[in-house]
Amino acid sequence: MTLPPLHILLAAPRGFCAGVDRAVQIVEQALARYGPPVYVRHEIVHNRFVVEGLEKRGAIFVDELDEVPDAAPVVFSAHGVPKSVPAEAARRNLHYLDATCPLVSKVHREAERHFAAGHTILLIGHADHPEVVGTMGQLPAGAVILIQTRKEAEAVEVEDPTHLAYTTQTTLSADDTAEIVTVLRRRFPRIEGPKKDDICYATTNRQKAVKAIAERCDALIVLGAPNSSNSMRLVEVARAAGCPEAFLVRRAGEIDLGGLAGVTQLGITAGASAPEVLVEEVIAAARMRYAVTLEEIVVTRETVEFKLPKALTAPA
Ligand code: SF4
Repeated sequence: MTLPPLHILLAAPRGFCAGVDRAVQIVEQALARYGPPVYVRHEIVHNRFVVEGLEKRGAIFVDELDEVPDAAPVVFSAHGVPKSVPAEAARRNLHYLDATCPLVSKVHREAERHFAAGHTILLIGHADHPEVVGTMGQLPAGAVILIQTRKEAEAVEVEDPTHLAYTTQTTLSADDTAEIVTVLRRRFPRIEGPKKDDICYATTNRQKAVKAIAERCDALIVLGAPNSSNSMRLVEVARAAGCPEAFLVRRAGEIDLGGLAGVTQLGITAGASAPEVLVEEVIAAARMRYAVTLEEIVVTRETVEFKLPKALTAPA
């Protein structure tokens, strides 16, 4: 039987970023060093496949520290935590490892610096995302005002516009954030902040890579998770950049490959918390029904690496 042709365009970079890689390694190395169980507060990264893989090896995921027994090691997730969390861990004398991505920690320090200078801080981000909860939790209640949309940027009122700064979540849409920053700079000319935004290199590169293939694709699949901000943004970016159909899936099994009739050029990418094996799974499934040809479009090569915490690298 002759299979119909399907040309797959692979966006690159895609998948794991340095912060996610580091966070997963921290849990793996903690398991190797201390033995199971190792407790992890919240999903270490937003990906069920990764979380379930670590669970099988002895990680126990919990919502809050009060679920962690006194003697067990505990890891904080890559998204960062409010200051109250390490403070509580220290009070209980818990052995904790902080897997907060260094690029998120950088935003925490920025917010603290602005606060120390007497500024009110506008944080551009999504309510309830763990990174936003963590960043807001670096400072006393009321010090940070969350801005989620351009409309909110147009409406926000501050006590002293001469003492104002902004920071952003690291995993936002670069284009939407630029619009919000433009509004804030117009309304508050003395606002301080990063040159552009705090969106991280990995989010930026994955969005650029999707833009580079979107127009050529009849449909585009993003491997990721619905609660993963950078994955959801990739779907939006693909649509905005001219791909008629872009959708998010967690695993290959969720794709109705038979329903891709009429699609001859299929784009594939993966959010920063989705491992490459999930992309390979989709390609393998596509090969069962189509004569697949592959083309990878590389917009940049990533070389970023982050060090592991000293507690894991020092001799045991
Ligand atoms: S997406 Fe960016 S901020 Fe988030 S873990 Fe990866 S590198 Fe760090």
